[in-house]
Amino acid sequence: MSRVFNFSAGPAALPAEVLEQAQAEMLDWNGSGMSVMEMSHRGKDYMSIAAKAEADLRELMDIPENYKVLFLQGGASSQFAMVPINLLNGPDGKKRESADYLLTGQWSKKAVAEAKRYCKVNLVADTTDSKFTTVPEEASLKFDPDAAYVHYTPNETIVGVEFDYIPDTGDVPLVADMSSSILSRQIDVSKFGIIYAGAQKNIGPAGLTIVIVREDLIGNADASMPVMFDYKTFADNESMYNTPPTYSWYMAGLVFAWGLKKGGMSAIEATNRRKAEKLYKAIDDSDFFSNPVDVQYRSWMNVPFILADADQDAAFIEQAAAKGLVTLKGHRSVGGMRASIYNAMPEEGIDTLIAFMQEFENAQA
Ligand code: PMP
Repeated sequence: MSRVFNFSAGPAALPAEVLEQAQAEMLDWNGSGMSVMEMSHRGKDYMSIAAKAEADLRELMDIPENYKVLFLQGGASSQFAMVPINLLNGPDGKKRESADYLLTGQWSKKAVAEAKRYCKVNLVADTTDSKFTTVPEEASLKFDPDAAYVHYTPNETIVGVEFDYIPDTGDVPLVADMSSSILSRQIDVSKFGIIYAGAQKNIGPAGLTIVIVREDLIGNADASMPVMFDYKTFADNESMYNTPPTYSWYMAGLVFAWGLKKGGMSAIEATNRRKAEKLYKAIDDSDFFSNPVDVQYRSWMNVPFILADADQDAAFIEQAAAKGLVTLKGHRSVGGMRASIYNAMPEEGIDTLIAFMQEFENAQA
């Protein structure tokens, strides 16, 4: 068996140790005589798996007690609707007319489009003209104190642009789509009203969506809204109002335990910083590869790079694959390559990619 270095943006590489543990436990979890996939979500075995996953995530991210962690389905895309549905009525019971959005890439654009179905959207920033290669300066942001919430996407997965600060929104709840940056670095959860993320990058397999929500933001949705779109439904039922994505939740738990074993977020952050800096340095030192994103706001997780000669794209992808470096093709809207280097990408994968890039560039002469 040979494992490749998989640079997919998501679903993405998972830690080999986690996959091996899942394999070892596949047919018989902890003497239960069955696979986790076959368990009732209400049985005591599964309840212990679910509770441990939540406890480990809380420890990893240092989540304060006044936040609920919800294990949902529907992907980050469902949160584009669940956020306005749940937050437009403030904790004071008063209906807000509008929400503030920072439009900094294709994913925040989708979040904006969905929110417009529910409320007025006030664009506090819009970096479309830069082709999303930068983020607004913190001092330029003027938030509406009467907005229901402020939504932003700390890391835009497609262009690879990432905020290096957390916007200060005062008393207005800050909502972050952390799909491609959760667990990549230490963050202060108390600065957020809601953090949400599809699992399929730094958390585990697709099918699970994590929502970390401050308790006062739960229970305010209009009664006419679908129960499945009300955070309260899940908060009141330990995310087991209906059948949760049990196996993805279990796998996420293995990933959280792996993160703790790695030394927690400070160790993970240091590794991620080193991995990203190495790869960007290789790109910047080269005359053949380039990255268009503002240096200050380059993503640690998604690193697009363009070849000076786009006619070489296919050869690059083919030769990279022969070296076990796969899924490097860039998003269709950007072209070129994109290396997604989430937590499970070993440093050796970055080193192998850099060595190959240098070899490819030298062969151009
Ligand atoms: N937001 C971001 C930042 C993403 O990267 C993605 C998926 N790549 C999404 C939202 C959509 O996530 P999902 O497919 O889980 O709905």
